Amino acid sequence: MSRLLTQIPGPRSQELTARRKGAVAAGVGSTLPVYIDHAEDGLLVDVDGNRLIDLGSGIAVTGVGNPAPRVAAGVHEQIDRFSHTCFMVTPYEGYVEVCERLNALTPGTHEKRSVLFNSGAEAVENAVKIARHVTGRAAVVVFDHAYHGRTNLTMALTAKAMPYKHRFGPFAPEVYRVPMSYPFRDGLGGPEAAARAFDVIEKQVGASDVACVVIEPVQGEGGFIAPAPGFLPALSAWCRERGVLLVADEIQTGFCRTGTWFACEHEGVVPDLVTTAKGMAGGLPLAGVTGRAEVLDAVHPGGLGGTYGGNPVACAAALGAIDTMTELDLNAAARRIEAFVLPRLRAAVGADGDVRGRGAMLAVEFAAQTPEVAARVAAACHASGVVVLTCGTYGNVLRLLPPLVIPDDLLAEGVAVLEKAITEGVGR
Ligand SMILES: *Cc1c(COP(=O)(O)O)cnc(C)c1O
Repeated sequence: MSRLLTQIPGPRSQELTARRKGAVAAGVGSTLPVYIDHAEDGLLVDVDGNRLIDLGSGIAVTGVGNPAPRVAAGVHEQIDRFSHTCFMVTPYEGYVEVCERLNALTPGTHEKRSVLFNSGAEAVENAVKIARHVTGRAAVVVFDHAYHGRTNLTMALTAKAMPYKHRFGPFAPEVYRVPMSYPFRDGLGGPEAAARAFDVIEKQVGASDVACVVIEPVQGEGGFIAPAPGFLPALSAWCRERGVLLVADEIQTGFCRTGTWFACEHEGVVPDLVTTAKGMAGGLPLAGVTGRAEVLDAVHPGGLGGTYGGNPVACAAALGAIDTMTELDLNAAARRIEAFVLPRLRAAVGADGDVRGRGAMLAVEFAAQTPEVAARVAAACHASGVVVLTCGTYGNVLRLLPPLVIPDDLLAEGVAVLEKAITEGVGR
């Protein structure tokens, strides 16, 4: 059960916010500035003793639970043996095992290789490095509403100026943006939307100059936009026929979030490269690039790496997290969350917006392309102790990323708060 002892944020959190102002750069935001003391499955307990329902999982990270017993056990066991050697200096088994799991779990039965990094952005950067190296081509194609990170190259790949790119340029060159399939807004079927994108690439870039197309199979920060059926398969076929690598950025969608190991599986698409991070290691920083063996092995030894990439403690956490996903069948859990939440939200939203999503990656896009309604609904949820996030190019999307292990009663309690906040937020 959730429980509020104070207003949100409470007095202790407010003290910490004041202290933070003198210590932490103002450029780092916090959606809900309650300071967390500890977590229990589906609940965040703050320093004032308030128990908040977590429908965000730290942005799709702690799907396996927080804390998750197998993740914690793996971390404890590893940190007591050694914390770091640098895989590029003296390697260790955990890194190899995480790569074996990635190779087995990502779409396609072909021979694969993986390489590990610290963050999602770093994985995306490396996917582009690999694609350019292998193809000998420079251009990278990305989509409207895309989000791929905050480093220089990934800012260039990301669509939204504010807050991600504003005054942070100049950006990396040879990045081309094309229209995304956005069924709620463009009404196009998948093949038509794909043809529109191909036309832009062929006329403005030239397919033979394109190293890779990078796409989130369901867009995350851009608004939980799932392309119309047929869009991803058409893109995959177009890439294959032209020697362009298809990079699926599954950083937010991967590891059971959408009810399958990876979101590409919903349409049987097998990408050349897959980037992973967020949900993979139960909260420890770990990311990966996985792909066709001949692509990954084409890069010269020493060309890929990093001091901390595939840190042994993060690898141990990932192995514990992946075991948890298998043992608890978290793909089925994500589908159960979808089946419970989607109809309830559809009824609450009615004609005032679009309710969509797959598995435990669900969203409401309010009809007006302005942030006010979503902000109002999120604020009402926060005041009632339910942590929800917003997203979307227009800031008009409310998104849910509940932990996949959330207990049924807690999910029902959170959704009831959300229903009330929506009804009031749209002014009914
Ligand atoms: C979060 C995210 C990233 C960036 O990951 P970081 O670990 O924050 O660098 C990249 N792509 C997608 C789709 C994401 O959701």
